[in-house]
Amino acid sequence: MNPKSSESHLESRDRPQQNVLVLGATGSIGTATVDVLRNLNQVDPARRWCLWGASAHSRVDKLLEIQAEAERWQSQSSPCRLLFSDQDVAKSRVESERSLQNPVNHAGSISVGPESLVQAAQSPEVDTVVAAIVGRAGLESTLAAIESGKRVALANKETLVVAGPVVQEKLNNSPAELLPVDSEHSAIFQCLQDSKNSPRKLILTASGGPFRTCTKQQMAEATRESALAHPTWEMGPKITIDSATMMNKALEIIEARWLFGLPADAIEVMVHPQSIIHSMVEFQDGSVLSQMSPPDMRLPIQYALTYPDRLPCDAPIFDRQKNWNLDLEAADLDRFPALGLGFEVAKVGGTAGAVLNAANEEAVGLFLDGKIRFTDIVDGCADVLRHHNFEPSPPLGRLLQLDGWARGELRKRMNLPS
Ligand code: NAD
Ligand code: MG
Repeated sequence: MNPKSSESHLESRDRPQQNVLVLGATGSIGTATVDVLRNLNQVDPARRWCLWGASAHSRVDKLLEIQAEAERWQSQSSPCRLLFSDQDVAKSRVESERSLQNPVNHAGSISVGPESLVQAAQSPEVDTVVAAIVGRAGLESTLAAIESGKRVALANKETLVVAGPVVQEKLNNSPAELLPVDSEHSAIFQCLQDSKNSPRKLILTASGGPFRTCTKQQMAEATRESALAHPTWEMGPKITIDSATMMNKALEIIEARWLFGLPADAIEVMVHPQSIIHSMVEFQDGSVLSQMSPPDMRLPIQYALTYPDRLPCDAPIFDRQKNWNLDLEAADLDRFPALGLGFEVAKVGGTAGAVLNAANEEAVGLFLDGKIRFTDIVDGCADVLRHHNFEPSPPLGRLLQLDGWARGELRKRMNLPS
């Protein structure tokens, strides 16, 4: 992480119009970001917050709704560009659906294909890119935004899991700022703001997901519906399953390792079922700071957009009239073996993150399609990780090759065709 206060960034932050590109706008983080932009236009009189462009993979209706929503607060001279990452989305279909939905205003260009997202992330008109695509599919556009010196509000943790050292190197050679959106990493970032001293420990909190109190046997029988029923957060399906296996926390351990530059053994996980304490930082003198707020992603998203400013936010506030029990428990690495994989990968780096991430994405997809059992997800990931030929300093191309290899290997180990 490198929030910079170079002159170019101060100037960019002071511009009367902030142009924001939201990649993955139709998802859970993407739609929350659109809410945040609407709010900022009411509470930040000094700047206009413009949805410069928005991407979806293939959901035309949803992206058109987002564009129409943005047109309610931003001027017609700043239309929202539409980007579809799925090559098969026909531009003509988008045009005709748009004119049906909105016969008066047809503004905002339409682009199709993954390359169009990379090009948009490189546009000199864009100040901030919100990286809210799910999975490894967000890697290229996030890297392009970093290389082009943008402020990057990072929700797409998979980019750091797959290619942490590549991201670090690009950040070192660019004026870009990488700000965390993930609530735990935003909490740590917030706790570190007033300190000139480096922390001793980062303590990531985890809700524990829907199977927090379940036995291994019960988890082996978990259904798709029970795994998708998260107790405290409403999120997209992939991260919801990751929360149930606690692979999400494993990915966050790796994310924290690269964002904050601390070794794996300085990172801990504690289970906190209420999801109010978003994470904690322990300093050299033993003092622990935490950031608290009800679980709502609009707060960390807004902070990543307006940092270092804090502005009124639409997210609910911590209700002090209520009696709260804020529980903190040690994480159980035996029932949730994904956590051990997270620590291992954060420690060794190299090719391990790309392999773990790809195996997990493949396994989650297979579980959601009813092809494997819930506990096969993490067992399969561990198996693939153990069987890969580790390399300590791979270039980006090698990481992408291994992504394909790990997906095929996971299927092979589950006795499924590639
Ligand atoms: P989601 O499934 O709700 O949305 C995913 C978005 O990515 C959609 O806009 C979709 O169109 C797009 N997308 C899907 N496949 C794509 C592809 N192949 N190419 C390009 N775009 C594609 O996901 P989400 O819950 O919003 O999560 C997005 C990211 O944010 C993930 O990396 C997740 O780990 C992270 N995150 C989410 C939350 C949360 O509360 N939802 C919290 C912290 C971090
Ligand atoms: Mg998180």
